[in-house]
Amino acid sequence: MRLATVRYEGESRAAVLNEDRVGLLGAPDLGALLAEQDWSALAGRPQQEVAADDVTVLTLVPRPSKIMCIGLNYRLHIEEVGAEAPEYPTVFAKFARSLIGDGEPIQMPAISERLDWEVELVAVIGRTVRNASESEAEAAIAGFTVGNDVSARDLQNRTSQWLQGKTCEATTPVGPCMVTTDEVGTRPDLAIRCEVDGVLRQDSRTSDLLFSVPQLVAYLSNILTLDPGDIIFTGTPGGVGQGLKPPVFLNAGQTVACTIEGIGTLTNSCAPAGR
Ligand code: ZN
Repeated sequence: MRLATVRYEGESRAAVLNEDRVGLLGAPDLGALLAEQDWSALAGRPQQEVAADDVTVLTLVPRPSKIMCIGLNYRLHIEEVGAEAPEYPTVFAKFARSLIGDGEPIQMPAISERLDWEVELVAVIGRTVRNASESEAEAAIAGFTVGNDVSARDLQNRTSQWLQGKTCEATTPVGPCMVTTDEVGTRPDLAIRCEVDGVLRQDSRTSDLLFSVPQLVAYLSNILTLDPGDIIFTGTPGGVGQGLKPPVFLNAGQTVACTIEGIGTLTNSCAPAGR
């Protein structure tokens, strides 16, 4: 099943995507749908069917209670930044105001000159989970989407804590839809790519993850409770702009297209920041 948050006739709705048709659900967004215990059954009973052309896809989960992120989790990316393979996951977070949807502009922060791309497999939590084993963690994953952990490298590298470079307003695209785990499993082996203005920059497979998604969910759930609708960025593969020689960063007007096989493509252009 492909689930999304869409706008139809001015209203936000959770929805099931089927090729050229969209099934509208009662919940106002995917996060609200996942908060229902029987969300999977509810998603199988749309209230109304409309043409795909009549809806606009919005931010997948507009206000997750948590946006957890993992750094340094693809073997090739660890090599390109010159880091050692970590014993524990590197964990950071974002705030909801950083999120945008497919097709929305990435608002380039006025205080950064080094904005970089990071395609990522993003896990969406489907049930409350705390102190989970790996198998309990697997059962708590609702599905996967595509994310672009756009990073202001100059801000990120000012201090040992990355947060300021990772959560700038309206810089983090997520979507366009979530594919449920019955279709892609919980340890997906999918092609993952990022193109900037049509130039292939990142090209890997999600099976290159050092810490698997169930391992990450179990690990995080031992820190705090994960709730339905929480999203977890699982790290980016090699090929980020900072790792190129010389480094390359995003300019206003450029378009970043992030694709994960079987899930979809997330496309966003860079807009100079307003004040
Ligand atoms: Zn990242």
